Amino acid sequence: MNRTEQAIGVVNDVSAKNYKPLPVVLVEGQGIWVKDIDGKEYMDMLAAYSSLNQGHRHPKIIKALKDQADKVTITSRAFHNDQMGDFLRKLCDMSGFSKSLPMNTGAEAVETCIKAARKWALKTKGITDGEIIVCSDNFHGRTITVISFSSEPQYREGFGPFTPGFVIVPYGDIKAMEAAVTDKTIAVLLEPMQGEAGVIVPPAGYLKDIRALCDKHKMLMICDEIQTGFGRTGKFFAFMHDGIRPDIVAIGKALGGGVYPVSAMLSDDEVMDVFRPGDHGSTFGGNPLGAAVGKAALEVLEEENLTQKSYELGEFFIDELKKMNSPYVKEIRGKGLFIGVEIKKECGEARPFCEKLMDLGLLCKETHQQTIRFTPPLVITKEELTKALESIRKVLVP
Ligand SMILES: *Cc1c(COP(=O)(O)O)cnc(C)c1O
Repeated sequence: MNRTEQAIGVVNDVSAKNYKPLPVVLVEGQGIWVKDIDGKEYMDMLAAYSSLNQGHRHPKIIKALKDQADKVTITSRAFHNDQMGDFLRKLCDMSGFSKSLPMNTGAEAVETCIKAARKWALKTKGITDGEIIVCSDNFHGRTITVISFSSEPQYREGFGPFTPGFVIVPYGDIKAMEAAVTDKTIAVLLEPMQGEAGVIVPPAGYLKDIRALCDKHKMLMICDEIQTGFGRTGKFFAFMHDGIRPDIVAIGKALGGGVYPVSAMLSDDEVMDVFRPGDHGSTFGGNPLGAAVGKAALEVLEEENLTQKSYELGEFFIDELKKMNSPYVKEIRGKGLFIGVEIKKECGEARPFCEKLMDLGLLCKETHQQTIRFTPPLVITKEELTKALESIRKVLVP
């Protein structure tokens, strides 16, 4: 047994088999590069599902982590700490919302948004059994409430009973959404572009139409930007492509700068102020270590212009992929450095393509059988991307 098999074997012995990772064991990471247990280098083209927009171990973020680790790391919200305010001030300034509530994981941020929407509906409309419209093929996390409105059978099988109060409509279909609105509808929750579903870009104007629908019926528009936020799609938030502003936003992943779980709900006062002391909370949410890291993560995005870089390099990357005219490829789609390459069914699934890319030193992961997702750290350079394209060409062009 070699060292890779040994390391994988231990995990299989002592942990749940709830993932099917590529057979590579990583021991180091820096920027866009990672190294496996045998010293082989790879370019990380997944970036932990967009958690690493700033790259692995960005020096500024690691410094913030270390400096804060030498002071105080967790206080709980029973007391104040000196980091949370500065972090959230920066977050509100950059995102254009007046308030934010810090959590840890993405699923918790989504749960927080749902709780806020429900309480808002009670306070403003007197509705206690409200319904939230969500979209087919959504991915918002793995808690019981969140999987209660998943349309993916495997995410739900065996995990019921489920949380009521959700209605699923087809993604990208405004007519279907309009038809689903009733007196009980309090909000719409969706990803501005779907990630896990296979990098799905909705029709132009879809978010604008949802905004108008929400305004008309006094419903809240909730965008899950956990994967698409922080420059990933070439705008700071993906909803900005449609020139709209939702009422509530869930964020996570890259907010933690690739080193620490930090998530949050964003909104203006009217919604956030439904929470009173004791209504909601999290032991680790807003802890000073996470706050220091989150603030540094935001500063890196700003100082290194990562949103603009994502926009420019994304166009270049998509153009080059299309120019390959691969006979295996059904469709190439995406915005910024959020790109999906869908493999034709008759050419097999995406997994073997990812395995071949791995052999060539490129780490990607398939999503929903047919799609290879390319979401490299936004700190990638054009030269590095060009190098990656050479390997991709070897796999996509016979
Ligand atoms: C990853 C993700 C989540 C869940 O985040 P966790 O940190 O894994 O709980 C929710 N929504 C979207 C769109 C995501 O990509």
